Amino acid sequence: MLTPQIADKGVTKHILRAFDLHASRRLGQNFLISPGVVRAVVEAAGIETGDLVLEIGPGIGTLTQGLLEAGAQVTAVELDKKLPAVLAETLRGYEHLNIVQGDILKTDIPALMGEKPFKVAANLPYYITTPILLSLLEQNLPITHIVTMVQKEVAERMTASPGGKDYGALSVAVQYYTEPEIVLDVPPSCFFPAPEVDSAVIACTIRKTPAVAVKDDILFFRVVKASFGQRRKTLSNALKPLGIPKEKIESALRNAKIDASRRGETLSLTEFAAITNELVN
Ligand code: SAM
Repeated sequence: MLTPQIADKGVTKHILRAFDLHASRRLGQNFLISPGVVRAVVEAAGIETGDLVLEIGPGIGTLTQGLLEAGAQVTAVELDKKLPAVLAETLRGYEHLNIVQGDILKTDIPALMGEKPFKVAANLPYYITTPILLSLLEQNLPITHIVTMVQKEVAERMTASPGGKDYGALSVAVQYYTEPEIVLDVPPSCFFPAPEVDSAVIACTIRKTPAVAVKDDILFFRVVKASFGQRRKTLSNALKPLGIPKEKIESALRNAKIDASRRGETLSLTEFAAITNELVN
């Protein structure tokens, strides 16, 4: 069985002390100290020998070690300039590892990962979870799976169904591109330092084609954004900022068989797609 060694409170504190490091709140540094959680991420990603993995924010190498032990070839992008030197020590001896110092949001991922299919694994910094996820999904990269730790509340938004308080633009984007599944709830005690919020591991399997067929995906996401932008408004009012003539919006809603007095947050992906496709017609 896989036994990641960095995933331990004593080892983590020792590494931080040895390198005179302090976990940075600003960079969302909450290091995993639970071997069981590392194993769960590696298993949910279905890591097999030779799999290419992009890890975002390796920190001191906790999850990285689990991925490497399972046989992955890991490219890890870390923003903190102090950490590559630490990783060179904590992960000394592992061959299939490429550490890149930089901001994942500014990284040229196609240049880094090439054209072959790859998986993304991460314990994401919570202050930029949504921009990272959206950027990965929208770039049309050859990703097959994204398995990541997120704030529990974000995991619930990613998997939410229409009508509930958690359902929003993030739910639609994630479900359009992927099939998301919460695989594990993770309490604050699994991290050092412990965050103030509960967490969850979410596994997103990227769909071969999006969940619904839309004639114009830029317009689809503009419709979605407008619909959730003004949650209390009826659809006919919420869609006004699109700058499309009122009559056109009303006829698109009629043709899509959607009551104009409904609120955006009750619409399924299929219904958002139907409105978009009618607007394109
Ligand atoms: N993977 C490690 C673990 O599980 O213990 C660390 C996870 S910690 C929650 C998030 C990591 O992301 C930190 O190491 C932080 O420095 C890094 N990070 C923060 N912002 C980043 C960014 N924009 N690009 C790349 N890494 C970032």
